[in-house]
Amino acid sequence: MSLVKNYYDVVVIGAGPSGSVSAALLCKKGYRVLILEKEYFPRFSIGESLLPQCMAYLEQAGMLSVVEQANFQFKNGAAFTRGDEYECYDFREKFTEGWGTTFQVQRDKFDKILADEAENKGVEIRYGETVVFYEAESNKAVLTVKNETGEEYKVSARFVLDASGFGRVLPKLLKLEKPSSFLPRGSLFTHIQDNVVDSRFDRNKVLITVHPKYHDVWYWLIPFSNGRASVGVVAPQEFLESMIGDADTKLQLLISEACMLADVLSNANFDTPVRSINGYSCDVKSLYGDYFALLGNAGEFLDPVFSSGVTIALKSASLAAGVVDKQLSGKNPDWREEFEIPLKKGVDAFREFVEGWYDERLQGVVFSKVKNEKVTEMISSVLAGYAWDTKNPYVDKPSRLTALAELCRNE
Ligand SMILES: Cc1cc2nc3c(=O)[nH]c(=O)nc-3n(C[C@H](O)[C@H](O)[C@H](O)COP(=O)(O)OP(=O)(O)OC[C@H]3O[C@@H](n4cnc5c(N)ncnc54)[C@H](O)[C@@H]3O)c2cc1C
Repeated sequence: MSLVKNYYDVVVIGAGPSGSVSAALLCKKGYRVLILEKEYFPRFSIGESLLPQCMAYLEQAGMLSVVEQANFQFKNGAAFTRGDEYECYDFREKFTEGWGTTFQVQRDKFDKILADEAENKGVEIRYGETVVFYEAESNKAVLTVKNETGEEYKVSARFVLDASGFGRVLPKLLKLEKPSSFLPRGSLFTHIQDNVVDSRFDRNKVLITVHPKYHDVWYWLIPFSNGRASVGVVAPQEFLESMIGDADTKLQLLISEACMLADVLSNANFDTPVRSINGYSCDVKSLYGDYFALLGNAGEFLDPVFSSGVTIALKSASLAAGVVDKQLSGKNPDWREEFEIPLKKGVDAFREFVEGWYDERLQGVVFSKVKNEKVTEMISSVLAGYAWDTKNPYVDKPSRLTALAELCRNE
């Protein structure tokens, strides 16, 4: 193994959205930033429906215009269906100020655009380099990196941001992982040529479908701008394992049971093998240490139902970049007060919504025929990703959802 080969102000592990955005923000502040990414881009990633709140973080990082120019599918809301029920939220009608529209993106293309833009802004990216070890020394962190030929070398940094997503590099190496409070769920998903002619499907919205019989089983349909779409189902892991057949057979069977979704996809061409992912919800004991912080999925991942993953990843990148800047300029920040607590505020609002989805409080609210305009705007705000706006009563005290569900049930 060679001696220390490099020294950077900040090394970021992973070039997903949280990695590229945090790196660009820190580069903009004048730091020498390196991203180590184990794959070569473009590469497949799940997580294709963005929330309007994302746009503010892309703008902050100077990356919004390249995303706007990429001809991604416009998105202005979320539609929900269960049996013959159908309701939708228009994200432009919301409680919190800010963007009301966004995009649904093929992540191979989206992530490459962000990574290339980070490079254009001065970030160095090394692809095909896997971080395998972390050591804290007296005033810096040292990472061991394995390149594609299997050779190992060291890189040291004044600070490390772990943006490795489900790779969860530092949580694993530093034994920070703790189980998620959510039941283990699994997902089957693929890309299709959707051939949708059914006018009930609004291409400007993500379509979330609840299984007519099993209300803890749900599907997404995320249209892209090129006539293709992402479709997937989420269910308790045991439920998926108890089904007979391969992943393609299971997904097709579940879609055939899904009422409106089955109709909408009746002409679809399933031309791509189905992928699966299991037990993705995860948590950690701490989101930071002396010389590191965890971003996005490397920290906590809740559940895909409200498409909150990329938004939380970008929020964590934006918050962390500010605190790293303070630390590297000798201001001794309080990571708990300035990063963990503010980040968790929004994560906890989403957590209540996810819990409410599976215990059906939120499904009751969504499918209720009686809607109060102001309250609907507050719910719409959280669904649009504005989960950190504490002026919204459902962010300030997310458990208010229980009382709202009760009201909807009694109407
Ligand atoms: C079924 C499902 C559906 C989802 N749908 C949505 C959705 O519609 N909308 C949404 O916003 N979110 C969704 N998500 C969540 C979304 O996928 C993630 O939250 C988001 O991609 C997290 O971004 P990130 O930057 O934290 O990490 P990632 O995007 O995962 O990027 C991590 C990067 O780190 C690299 N890496 C890993 N290990 C190493 C290593 N050792 N060394 C170097 N590099 C490494 C990886 O190759 C990868 O490129 C979904 C998740 C699931 C499971």
